[in-house]
Amino acid sequence: MTHIFHRNPALTLPVAVRGEGCYLIDAQGRRYFDGSGGAAVSCLGHAHPRVIAAMKQQMETLEYAHTSFFSSEPAEQLASLLAEHSPANLGNVYFLSGGSEAMETALKMARQYHVENGQPQRDHFISRRQSYHGNTLGALAIGGNLPRRKLYEPLLMQTTQVAPCFAFRYRLAGETDADYVERLGQELEDSLLELGPQRVAAFVAETVVGATSGAVAPVPGYLARMRDICDRHGVLLILDEVMCGIGRTGTYHAFEQENVVPDLLVLAKGLGGGFQPIGAVMASDRVVQTISAGSGSFQHGHTYVGHPLACAAALAVQEEIIGQDLCAKVRSSGELLGRLLDERFANHPNVADIRGRGLFRAIELVQDRDGNQPFAPQLRLHAKIKQTAQDLGLLCYPGGGTIDGINGDHVLLAPPYNSTPEQLAFAADTLAVALDECLDTRPFQQQKKA
Ligand code: PLP
Repeated sequence: MTHIFHRNPALTLPVAVRGEGCYLIDAQGRRYFDGSGGAAVSCLGHAHPRVIAAMKQQMETLEYAHTSFFSSEPAEQLASLLAEHSPANLGNVYFLSGGSEAMETALKMARQYHVENGQPQRDHFISRRQSYHGNTLGALAIGGNLPRRKLYEPLLMQTTQVAPCFAFRYRLAGETDADYVERLGQELEDSLLELGPQRVAAFVAETVVGATSGAVAPVPGYLARMRDICDRHGVLLILDEVMCGIGRTGTYHAFEQENVVPDLLVLAKGLGGGFQPIGAVMASDRVVQTISAGSGSFQHGHTYVGHPLACAAALAVQEEIIGQDLCAKVRSSGELLGRLLDERFANHPNVADIRGRGLFRAIELVQDRDGNQPFAPQLRLHAKIKQTAQDLGLLCYPGGGTIDGINGDHVLLAPPYNSTPEQLAFAADTLAVALDECLDTRPFQQQKKA
């Protein structure tokens, strides 16, 4: 008997009772390797002593002070640390309690910037299909994850969605990276012109797409081209690094690998590593100075903005990531995980693509590799793999609708940065067993023969 309105009330979930390093342990004593850090959250695993000590100390000193009355030491220190490890122009941090809230904040900041900059007609956002930016109404409106949007469509603000940069599925035969970038750039440019002059407030993209399509990195030059188009049209660039940021792809910010700097950067999961709910927007000087010199204050706020305990936890997480040079570890462990996945899946008849960066990797599944045809969506292969892997002691993050919101299945791995080589091998091996167990069942056998 439960009084929780669970995500899926029909399911009886195991109860997690303890975390130990890269493992979660349930009430039956079963241990699970956290191969996806939940949803790419637990970058340091669980029960990290440094983070726990920092939280205890903060709890005994100051648990909460409303930000209309006070700033706080952990919030100031965390903001300074983030600024120090980011491009000089991005050193203005606004703290929130999670990714969706941070995304809403970035949209509103972009809007207020334009109003105060004398362009109040800029009230429209362009984003991309096959993206996810959160489940609150503003974030959902710019998101391109069809299943998550569908029920709420009538409530969502109008946005324009352009194609994702998803080379495996959408680069045309014979098209080079440069041609593909050109085509996507032209689509953005056409949309801006169609919407009318100075109508668009911001272009929004995940630097590396996470849950919707599974660790899809942009082709070289794509984001730089988008940045250039935004600049020419006075449009802000908002990069969503809620999932792919804070070291996950091997650099502190994922955009560092793209030769661009956004106007607004959105962070969450790896910021607090799951020890506390926290998100942040890092805003450029241009945005903040325009608002400061205009009305003087950002017309926004939440009760738990800059929560001292959340900031103290996130500060300890960031000190560990930076102090232990975990970005370098993510790069080397990421290469190892890539090799392990290649060994197990490069010749697998039902794995069409192995992709990702750092410790943010995915495989995409198909009926057969000749035409890269996906399995029928109603078979819900991704959901079956999730359950089978969990039964085998591996937590991974599969998703469906990989290609267009309906068709396609992928499995995302996002293990903690301090995972050992043996643990990464366990993840790859167990995923291979789970996949084959699912594909051996009758509906998949039938579809493979069809
Ligand atoms: N943006 C991206 C890229 C995400 O992956 C997510 C969550 O998965 C969000 C935003 C929303 O974050 P939250 O679930 O913390 O509200």
